[in-house]
Amino acid sequence: MKAAFWYGIRDVRIDEIPAPVVQPGMVNIKVAWCGICGTDLHEYMAGPIFIPDQPHALTHQQAPVILGHEFAGEVVEVGQGVTRVKVGDRVTVEPILACGSCIPCQKGLYNVCDTLGFHGLSGGGGGFSEFTMVKESMVHRLPDPMSYEQGALVEPAAVALHAIRTSKLKAGDSCVVYGAGPIGLLVIQAARTAGASRIIAVEVSEERQQMAKALGAHHIIHPLKENAIQAVHRLTNGGADICFEVTGVDRCLNDAIDCAKTDGQIIIVSIWEKQASIFPNNLVLKEREIKGVLAYRNIFPAVIDLISEGRLQVDQLITRKISLNDLTQKGFEELIRSKEHIKILVSPSLV
Ligand SMILES: [Zn+2]
Ligand SMILES: [Zn+2]
Repeated sequence: MKAAFWYGIRDVRIDEIPAPVVQPGMVNIKVAWCGICGTDLHEYMAGPIFIPDQPHALTHQQAPVILGHEFAGEVVEVGQGVTRVKVGDRVTVEPILACGSCIPCQKGLYNVCDTLGFHGLSGGGGGFSEFTMVKESMVHRLPDPMSYEQGALVEPAAVALHAIRTSKLKAGDSCVVYGAGPIGLLVIQAARTAGASRIIAVEVSEERQQMAKALGAHHIIHPLKENAIQAVHRLTNGGADICFEVTGVDRCLNDAIDCAKTDGQIIIVSIWEKQASIFPNNLVLKEREIKGVLAYRNIFPAVIDLISEGRLQVDQLITRKISLNDLTQKGFEELIRSKEHIKILVSPSLV
């Protein structure tokens, strides 16, 4: 079968390898669609970040590894002892690999496991592959009306919903979302679903501004055309209750802090390629707090419900569909070239 391996910066290759042989407790999936994530792009341009450069504690594998962690497909084989799913089921995969025994795992915080890994980043297979094998517990069945394309968007939507649920956001609160890429656009929708009264998106790309507006942002700020901090303070009468930082840019993090009200909260959703600096007095003198969130936990069923009910709209986010053979040129390179794309989906079976 074909699978896309990360070898190094700007070096992703489609290799021919044997299909996985199903093991006890495992499920073999024929991948229908797999999204290109911002994290994949970070790995492509500046990796390895999550990709192990020595054997990973859980998969015992290191680069080159198969990419792709946002996927849905059909169960084609189940291992001994598997009871929750059967051959023919349509599923999406929660790609977190956790040890189950460290202190965070014991507390149920498996998304911050001490030896955290991701299927599609840390070895052991991935979604940019014709078939991939995962643990039964990672599989979530899709309801009948839900498409595989929507199924592939469950993972990024879970990141957004986890960010909202982990924040202090309450119905009626105002919030700012810095960056209207795929995750930012989902954070906007999740904030709206959670009852945010005023959602302000800060974004430079015009295509993304329009998308943010269409998906529920009440105000759009172009940070190069107006002072975003002043605009937010004016629109919210003194600062937003919660600011979500979804850009991974030093300057945006600092602005997001200043956009928050006294006693407000800043949530960092982005993964960073390098160090950023802040002036702590911007937190101290206003008693603001800052919190990081990573991935998701115990949330896939809720996300599947919200997408099914149309309260998280993911179809509009899909701006291109390509075959696995085109992953590099029509996928990664295109995302670097242009901000007009939000989510590019990849099919290993499309020729
Ligand atoms: Zn992702
Ligand atoms: Zn653990």
